[in-house]
Amino acid sequence: MHSFRYVGKELFCEEVPVSVLVKKHGTPLFVYSQATLSDHFTRLDSALAPLDHLICFAMKSNSNRAIIQTFAALGGGFDTVSAGEIQRAVAAGGDPSKCVFAGVGKTEEEIAYALKQGIYCFNVESEPELVRISRIAVKLKKIAPIAVRVNPNVDAHTHAKITTGTYDNKFGIQFENIEAVYARAAKLSNLRLRGLQMHIGSQLTEVNPFRQAVEKVSPLVVRLNNRHGFDFFSIGGGLGIVYQNALESGANGWWKTAAGKKILTPQTYADTLIPLLKPLGLKILLEPGRFLTGNAGALITRVEYIKKTGKKNFVIVDAAMNDLIRPAFYDSFHEIIPLVKKPGKLVSSDVVGPICESGDYFAKDRPLAKVTEGDHLVLLSAGAYGSVMGSNYNSRPLATEILVNGKRSAVVRRHQELTAIWGDESLAPWQK
Ligand SMILES: *Cc1c(COP(=O)(O)O)cnc(C)c1O
Repeated sequence: MHSFRYVGKELFCEEVPVSVLVKKHGTPLFVYSQATLSDHFTRLDSALAPLDHLICFAMKSNSNRAIIQTFAALGGGFDTVSAGEIQRAVAAGGDPSKCVFAGVGKTEEEIAYALKQGIYCFNVESEPELVRISRIAVKLKKIAPIAVRVNPNVDAHTHAKITTGTYDNKFGIQFENIEAVYARAAKLSNLRLRGLQMHIGSQLTEVNPFRQAVEKVSPLVVRLNNRHGFDFFSIGGGLGIVYQNALESGANGWWKTAAGKKILTPQTYADTLIPLLKPLGLKILLEPGRFLTGNAGALITRVEYIKKTGKKNFVIVDAAMNDLIRPAFYDSFHEIIPLVKKPGKLVSSDVVGPICESGDYFAKDRPLAKVTEGDHLVLLSAGAYGSVMGSNYNSRPLATEILVNGKRSAVVRRHQELTAIWGDESLAPWQK
C-alpha cells in the first residue's frame, strides 16, 4: 500500500494536495507519508507475530529523524552501519539496546562508542574485527555482544550493486569457515556470542532466495546454538517493493503491479519462513530498509525546459542525480507522473537533471504526459536510498523534506541555505 493517489486531477499524499506543499516549499521536494511508513511496519510485524522477533529498521535507507522516530514509536529497533547512525537513532528516540551495528570497516572509536551505548549486538564481518572488538571490550571492561555475519553464497537474483550474499563481494564470512570462526571467537576475552546474522541482498521480489538461504543456514544455527547458547538469528533485510506501476499498485493494494504480477508480500514472506524459523526456538531479527520507506516517499520536481533534438525530447527538471542517484547508480526505474493529470497523448521523453554529467537522468525514452515549463513531475517510490544519498555536487543544496500525516504536514528537513554548503570550508593561512 502507499498513500499517493489522484483525487480528480490532483495528486494527494494522504489527505494533503501535493501542489499545496510545492507552492509553499518549492522544489525539489521529498514528501513522505507517515501512514505508509506505519502500514508497512505493521504489516510485516503482524505477519511475523507467531515468531519472537524484532524488526530493526535499516536506517541507511532513510535516516531522517522523523522517520526514525516513527519506527521507534512502533517498537522497532535499528540496523546501523556507523557510530553516526547509532547517535542519530538515539537522538531521534531510538533505544540503543535495540540497535545492531553492521559494516565491514568499524573503527576503534566506533566500536568503543557502541560498547558504551550498550547496543544489542555487533554484526561482525571478519576475524580481525573480532580481535579488535575483544581488545577494546577488555580495555573498557565491557562484554561485547557479537554475531558473525555468514555469507551463505546464495544468489539473490538482483542488481550486482545490491547483491551481498555471494562470495564475489566483501560482506560476511564464508559459510564453510563459520564454525571455525566461532570456535576462535569463543576463546577471545569479553565477547558474548549472541547469534548469527546474514543479509543476502536488496530489492528481492521473490521468496525463493530467502527460503534457500534460511534452509541452508538453519542447520548451522542449530549446531552453533548448541555449542554457544544463542539468543537470536538475524535474517537481514532485502524485501523488495513495487517500482513499476507504483501508482496503480497504491490504488490496488501495494503488492499488485498493473500487469497483474504479484510481488513478494510480507504475508508470503512470513508464511514461507516461519515454519523454517520457529523450530530454532530463537528470537528472529529482521533488517528491512527499502520495504519500510521506499513506497512512502516521492520526489517532486519542476519542469524547467523542454529541449527537442532531432532524436530526443528532453524534459529538463530541477531535481538531479544529487537528489536521487538511483537511476544513475543502479540503473533503477522510478515511475514518473505529472503532479496534475494531463489529458492527451503520451510523448516519448528523456527526463534529465541540470547536472553536468550524462549520467544525470531519471528516465530514458519514457512515454510521458506532454508537459511544459512550470509543470511539475513526481518520481514515485523515492523514500528509500533517495535523500540519504543526496549530495551537494554542483553546489546544489539538499532537497527539503516534508512528512505528511492525514491532513497535517510538517517540514522535517528545512531548505538548505547555499552558505551552509561551503560553511565548513576555509582558506589556507597563506591565502588570506
Ligand atoms: C542495506 C542493508 C539492509 C537493508 O536492505 P534493504 O534492501 O533496504 O532491506 C539490511 N541489512 C544489511 C546488513 C544491509 O547492509
